[in-house]
Amino acid sequence: TAVIGVLALQGDVREHLAALAAAGARAVPVRRPAELAEVSGLVVPGGESTTMSKLAVAFGLLEPLRARVRAGMPAYGSCAGMIMLADKILDPRSGQETVGGIDMIVRRNAFGRQNESFEVPLDMAGVPGGPVHGVFIRAPWVESTGAGVERLAEVDGHAVAVRQGPLLATSFHPELTGDHRVHALFADMVRRAG
Ligand code: GLN
Repeated sequence: TAVIGVLALQGDVREHLAALAAAGARAVPVRRPAELAEVSGLVVPGGESTTMSKLAVAFGLLEPLRARVRAGMPAYGSCAGMIMLADKILDPRSGQETVGGIDMIVRRNAFGRQNESFEVPLDMAGVPGGPVHGVFIRAPWVESTGAGVERLAEVDGHAVAVRQGPLLATSFHPELTGDHRVHALFADMVRRAG
């Protein structure tokens, strides 16, 4: 079976490793370029996107990440990970870089103070078997998408799950719910790409 990495610089790495394992995938943490080179797909976890971006630069991983994504490696980002996979951030913090790959603009902390965290059932295209439990924690939303981007789920008209070819991103955190269908979808994307 293909090995899926979880970018392990910052954020909820363990939860993603556990969710991937529960979805039947082999999962390993990725901290160094040599480890990145060994995996067939990569999860970018939730956490704090500015910190993650700065650590990616410090660990010499930003350019290797960009190169793998450009070369077609499947990747899945949740929350801060979604921000990392966006071509553009509406309101980047200074020094904040993204890996990019998905032709979209994201707005960080988009749901506002009243809604810093909330949970809502979501119908997500590509995930059969009923609604996904959407856990949102200071979540971004997708402000706009390019023509090649599929919008898989929305909240109040804003995309919160998107896919562009081998790249998948969610504003929410399926790794915190015990429901492994989104990770199973990603594992399947990795299998098909292989
Ligand atoms: N607000 C965080 C950021 O901008 C993302 C929060 C999360 O990953 N739960 O990076």
